[in-house]
Amino acid sequence: MAKFHTLKVADLKRPTEESVAVTFNIPDELREEFSFIQGQHLTLKKDIKGEDTRRSYSICSCPIDETITVAIKKLEGGAFSTYANDQLAIDDEIEVMAPHGKFHVPLDPASSRSYVAFASGSGITPILSIIETTLRTEPESEFILFYGNRRTSTIIFQEELEGLKNKYMGRFSLYHILSKERQESDLFNGRIDKEKIRSYARLFFNTESVDHYFTCGPEEMMLAVQDELRLLDVPDERIHLELFTSPVGKLGSQEKEIKHEKALAEITVILDGNSMTFPYNSDKSILDVAFDNGADLPYACKGGVCSTCVCRVEEGEVEMDVNYALEPDELERGLVLSCQSYPKTEKVKLSFDV
Ligand SMILES: Cc1cc2nc3c(=O)[nH]c(=O)nc-3n(C[C@H](O)[C@H](O)[C@H](O)COP(=O)(O)OP(=O)(O)OC[C@H]3O[C@@H](n4cnc5c(N)ncnc54)[C@H](O)[C@@H]3O)c2cc1C
Repeated sequence: MAKFHTLKVADLKRPTEESVAVTFNIPDELREEFSFIQGQHLTLKKDIKGEDTRRSYSICSCPIDETITVAIKKLEGGAFSTYANDQLAIDDEIEVMAPHGKFHVPLDPASSRSYVAFASGSGITPILSIIETTLRTEPESEFILFYGNRRTSTIIFQEELEGLKNKYMGRFSLYHILSKERQESDLFNGRIDKEKIRSYARLFFNTESVDHYFTCGPEEMMLAVQDELRLLDVPDERIHLELFTSPVGKLGSQEKEIKHEKALAEITVILDGNSMTFPYNSDKSILDVAFDNGADLPYACKGGVCSTCVCRVEEGEVEMDVNYALEPDELERGLVLSCQSYPKTEKVKLSFDV
């Protein structure tokens, strides 16, 4: 799981002026490792201006087609997104880790289910894959998407979404909400906020008959979706969120800025069956100290969000600062995020072969 593979860029498209869709060439010997589930993401790695730069990008293509495409939105001053939008070319090579992530529900061709998604900006990437895969796999199911953007020209995948709407007429409904371009109905002007979500729930879907909700985009929108759906008695198991950045608000309700005391411990890490032991005499995370000691462990966001650095505690105990990625049952199985972990015992053994 931890390994990066060198993949060639097979195709580049520009869904909007500020984004680039990158399709990778997957060699036959990596096809199995790079098979994916809708909603999963890749960790990409590139040396940018002398810095090992790693970022996660959700796969926007549909697993049934066996192509892997990610869409990267350019952020002003953003290291990886600027490189990808301004410099990346066809045939360039990037280090890519096998797909991972849990932003999906199992599909069943025999089910007739109802799904609703709220996306905004680049948050459409995993949602597009989820919608297309669901509509193709479950012929009786329906999907409604509320998609927020600034204006028509900044809508990523507008054509693809229109295509799905035409192909799955009656099963896929699409509503664009624009904040900087006026539309006829005020229902669709502005941002997706609590008031709008309440109105949409009254007018376009019945919360009791929706099986699953997906949301991805700015934290403020995701919070509004979560809060409103909870107020409408939707159980948390039906609300699926994908964060792109470490939250600054109350999502996940872990806002503490923690300062760690320096501690002493002996750490062993296991990766691909090989173990390495080193002393810990620090106030930094185990991941950072492992890196200082030459261990090439998997990581990307370092903010407790992307779960690339997940490992299992095999001996001893650790304490985590924040966790926006692991579910309670995974914590029970001893999984932790090494970027957020600090030793609580004198000896700690972590396996990255999970
Ligand atoms: C699971 C997951 C899936 C994701 N999927 C996608 C996806 O499908 N598409 C997508 O586009 N993104 C996605 N992301 C976000 C992505 O991983 C990156 O965080 C994003 O592209 C920004 O990376 P960057 O290197 O360009 O910006 P960074 O260099 O990390 O900068 C982040 C922010 O800081 C600001 N900043 C940086 N340097 C400066 C500076 N010198 N002065 C002022 N401001 C500065 C930037 O403007 C930017 O807003 C995903 C994240 C996760 C965790």
